[in-house]
Amino acid sequence: MLDSAKIAVLLNGRLYGSEKAVFHRCTADSRQVKGGEMFIALAGEKTDGHKYIARALQSGAAIVLAEEKRLRREGVPVLPEKSSIIAVEDSLKGLQQLAAIWLKEIGARVIGVTGSNGKTTTKDMVAAVLGTKFRVHKNAGNLNTEIGLPMTVLGAPSDTEVMVLEMGMRGLGQIKTLCEISCPCAAVITNIGATHLELLGSRENIARAKWEIVESLPEEGIAILNTEDKISMEKAASYHGKTLFYGIEGKFGRPDLWAEEIIPSGDTGTTFRARYKKENVLIRLPLPGKHNVLDALAALGAGLLNGVNLESGSQALEGLQISAMRLEILPGCHQSIIINDVYNANPASVKASLAVLKERGGAKTVAVLGEMYELGAASQSGHREVGVEAAGLGVLELVTVGKLAEEIAAGALQNGFLPSRIHICEDCAEAVTATKKIIDLLGAGTWVLIKGSRGMHMEKISNELKTDN
Ligand code: ATP
Ligand code: MG
Repeated sequence: MLDSAKIAVLLNGRLYGSEKAVFHRCTADSRQVKGGEMFIALAGEKTDGHKYIARALQSGAAIVLAEEKRLRREGVPVLPEKSSIIAVEDSLKGLQQLAAIWLKEIGARVIGVTGSNGKTTTKDMVAAVLGTKFRVHKNAGNLNTEIGLPMTVLGAPSDTEVMVLEMGMRGLGQIKTLCEISCPCAAVITNIGATHLELLGSRENIARAKWEIVESLPEEGIAILNTEDKISMEKAASYHGKTLFYGIEGKFGRPDLWAEEIIPSGDTGTTFRARYKKENVLIRLPLPGKHNVLDALAALGAGLLNGVNLESGSQALEGLQISAMRLEILPGCHQSIIINDVYNANPASVKASLAVLKERGGAKTVAVLGEMYELGAASQSGHREVGVEAAGLGVLELVTVGKLAEEIAAGALQNGFLPSRIHICEDCAEAVTATKKIIDLLGAGTWVLIKGSRGMHMEKISNELKTDN
């Protein structure tokens, strides 16, 4: 158990108040303090957490981790009984060091998950599969940054056996830092695509940044890699460590664990057979699309490496719950069916969702696609690619939302999409009107995919088209 006195010694910090304060969870948001937390005062770009120390203590924070200089500037508040402040030089570094110490103390094994798309989904699946055999702790939602990951670690109960940690990145060296904190013994890369191209400049840099997770593995560590992903497999070609390859067709390499007989089932599910050595099992995944099959294979792979056989792994996957806004299938107006995937978008994830739209909707399909941000120099080509794909798949109607998304329309036109079936809209309100008209015309059983970058707030469209409105 880490109490305030011990933490102050470990972090070489100054202790104010109680020596015996303990916490059960970390937060950097004083509004989230309900009682018994460690409040981390971080100096952000917009606000300085040190301004909220008094509020956090009033709300019941057990421990505050702060920076000595800033604390003095703001003034050391009067401490409620049994609470304490630990002042260090750099509170973010302190948080990270403490997470590393806590992990060592509880001795949990860490599985890291990164990639351009599907990290959260895969993390949840790996945790479900390993949860059949171990006490598992994972990031809540998307807490995958240099702040969210150590907070996740510090929220783990002391009897945790395995931690499944999603690792996000926006630049080189970030995954390396997350690995230095958490020392994963196995690493999944879901895929390496064009996300954050704007920040990283080139695909090569994105590949290098993601690959940091593999380079951080110990000698006995295992990289779990997707054979359908070109860049991962190019990287794997010159990697000499241990690997477990998973895939479907084995486009860029031979999978050790693979899926076949993939069939859509029900409104939202997919049935497939997973094969590994002499084992094989039929799985009813409650999620649509091949991309979810791939994420499920990664999870089964992590399970196999930890003694969870395909049979047990498949049972865990069959009972899986997914997070809101990621490919939800909802009843829509006039008996349409809405694929609500408004959480975020980049070319690879939009293509994956278009495949689901076609697979489910058949002839009567409408794609409502918004702008994709952070593509940098690949913005025009990325949007075009998506339009080309929509036309190639035979989507019936296309609604684009926002200026950048007009390139999606251009790509579709270029690949033979009928101009009369393309509807260019400036904003979500216009897209709602256009899509409602299309649904009216096509009638019951029309499938509508809604997807765009988070900042587009495409939920404004799905909220209007859902039936419970
Ligand atoms: P973020 O970077 O925001 O944390 P993420 O990598 O955690 O995203 P998820 O939240 O799991 O990704 O999934 C987001 C969307 O990505 C899904 O709704 C789906 O459309 C798509 N997706 C999931 N898995 C894959 C995959 N293996 N390949 C391509 N697209 C995928
Ligand atoms: Mg995520």
